[in-house]
Amino acid sequence: MQTPDLSLVIPMHNEEQNVQLLVEEIGTALAGLCAEFILVDDGSTDGTLDQLRQAARGDQRIRIAHFRRNLGQTAAMAAGFHLARGEAVVTLDGDLQNDPADVPALVALLKEWDVVCGVRVNRRDTWLKRISSKIANGFRNWATGDDIVDTGCTLKAFRRQWLQNLDLYRGMHRFLPTLLKMRGARVTQVPVRHRPRRAGKTHYGTWGRMVKGLGDVWAVRWMQRNYVDYATVLELEESGVRSQESEASSQ
Ligand code: UDP
Ligand code: MG
Repeated sequence: MQTPDLSLVIPMHNEEQNVQLLVEEIGTALAGLCAEFILVDDGSTDGTLDQLRQAARGDQRIRIAHFRRNLGQTAAMAAGFHLARGEAVVTLDGDLQNDPADVPALVALLKEWDVVCGVRVNRRDTWLKRISSKIANGFRNWATGDDIVDTGCTLKAFRRQWLQNLDLYRGMHRFLPTLLKMRGARVTQVPVRHRPRRAGKTHYGTWGRMVKGLGDVWAVRWMQRNYVDYATVLELEESGVRSQESEASSQ
């Protein structure tokens, strides 16, 4: 198989009833692109892995990885990033709430941007979830000085180079745009479609998501405050590497 231009990375935990339709939809939506589909089973205890294996037999573009136990969405995405070979990497929910038909437009925007974040318009979740998500986004942006409208939307596109050498911690997938901006990435946001979950159930209870998400903000803030961008002040000497800090940073 030739090296793909695009890698879809899809975290899956207990999504057995969604696998077949998901694979059909991404296959159709991305038929015109040279793509691979990396489906990461995050330690499912139902038939997700069997379903994935079955799907992979019918489509060479599918690559499967699985964890022996559940590690969480960030870990599943990080494993997918590690496996991805395309210059463009797009993350997508495994429950069909994101519409794969939106993927080509996001990929096209990577010509001008390093990261493209989906913003779910007409969001098809319960009102409680929509409100708690709004509060959490507002708090995150207030604390980090950012303006990411809908970081809970998994549908995002990245130039792969920005995903390399990232240490990701549990829950960190929500801060990818902010962390990449900190490193100098150009980030934009575009509206995307959203659909109700058709089978299986959500992994994020409203309260749990809020409390955990709010605590994580302080870690990101600490990183922003203490980020060391040494490359901008590094000077190479003839033999070996010697770094000279600028006057400003050494004072
Ligand atoms: N997911 C995962 N591991 C987890 C929790 C979630 O791989 O521990 C996956 C899940 O299967 C889905 C995506 O992450 O594909 C988003 O989860 P979910 O749909 O439950 O989130 P929601 O849409 O309710 O915010
Ligand atoms: Mg969902």
